[in-house]
Amino acid sequence: MKKVRVELGSRSYDACIGSGGLGRAGPMLKELGLSGKAVIIIDTTVRGLYGERLERSLSGAGFRVSVLEVPPGEEQKSLATAGRLYRELTGAYAERQTPVLALGGGVIGDLAGFVAATYMRGVPLVQLPTTLLAQVDSCLGGKTAVDHDGLKNVIGVFYQPRLVVADIDTLKTLPVAEMANGIAEVIKYAAIRNRELFAYLEGVLGRAASLEAAALERMVLESVKIKAEIVAIDEQDSGLRGILNYGHTIGHAIEAASGFRFRHGQAVAMGMVAAARVSRRLGMLSDDDVFRLVGLIRKASLPTEVPALKIEEIIQAMKHDKKVKRDRVRFVLLEAIGQAMITDEVSLSLVEEVLRGR
Ligand code: ADP
Ligand code: ZN
Repeated sequence: MKKVRVELGSRSYDACIGSGGLGRAGPMLKELGLSGKAVIIIDTTVRGLYGERLERSLSGAGFRVSVLEVPPGEEQKSLATAGRLYRELTGAYAERQTPVLALGGGVIGDLAGFVAATYMRGVPLVQLPTTLLAQVDSCLGGKTAVDHDGLKNVIGVFYQPRLVVADIDTLKTLPVAEMANGIAEVIKYAAIRNRELFAYLEGVLGRAASLEAAALERMVLESVKIKAEIVAIDEQDSGLRGILNYGHTIGHAIEAASGFRFRHGQAVAMGMVAAARVSRRLGMLSDDDVFRLVGLIRKASLPTEVPALKIEEIIQAMKHDKKVKRDRVRFVLLEAIGQAMITDEVSLSLVEEVLRGR
């Protein structure tokens, strides 16, 4: 297992990445000084695949394990489900020191993270992400939340985990569409921060139907390093962390305008291409780098062009975004592959021109 330290003073923690992680979770928790009861929050699908592996590791290390199961799906990121989990936690006699382990994708990570942050004013949280998207993005950085009244992530709190274990073996069963969702985010990290990783991805993506374990491990490791570095500098999301929004300003608008028919990764992929073209139009990015970005996204079987029919709606959605002031949008641009910057000076009319291919 490879280790990345997320440096946050007294709340620092390790993210462990590699094969066989779930089997080692029990001993790793003990090393953190945890013992006694442990509660796993998990969705039905992931329980069938990996629940036992984690349970066995915990019992082997002497923990008394309770499992709280949630059906899969974004609808579960709700106060209602959180309420049910609080009740089950008291039912299982969970105490202030009882670790809550989130085993699953981003939905479970956000929901269990929120519950762990608020139950008894916070119990130890361990993230065990099983989707590529969760491993490279949502499990790190301490953002936890549930949806409310049709709004995504509106009720939430920053709460750092005590440990993250990304077992890349779990990615073997991940559906192709879920995989592509995470790959978009890996491409994003490379585009904003690591030109060498970008070149590596050009070599491995799309060559084989399934990625080898070694390639996956490197992708997760390099992405986690970048996110850890950025979160350590800007935990509360007030400055540098903004560059993680590369491709997301337009991406979120695409998701909203399409009624969430596009997956997050697909929307971000189209958003990254559009943002690169905006950078090009402003004379910041070379034609060659735009070409390479488009090529890599295609290799990953992700879309590059926004459907023409939706452009009006996308612009409307961007106007409602809180990052838009008058005609100006806060935007992450590329100066080169591997180097991003934030500006408030991009006009919506330029974004529209670029989306219309003019
Ligand atoms: P994310 O928000 O990280 O994209 P979700 O939590 O929405 O992921 O999970 C997406 C779906 O994939 C859910 O139905 C979940 O049960 C399933 N899933 C999660 N991890 C795995 C895995 N390792 N193998 C197969 N299916 C998984
Ligand atoms: Zn994202």
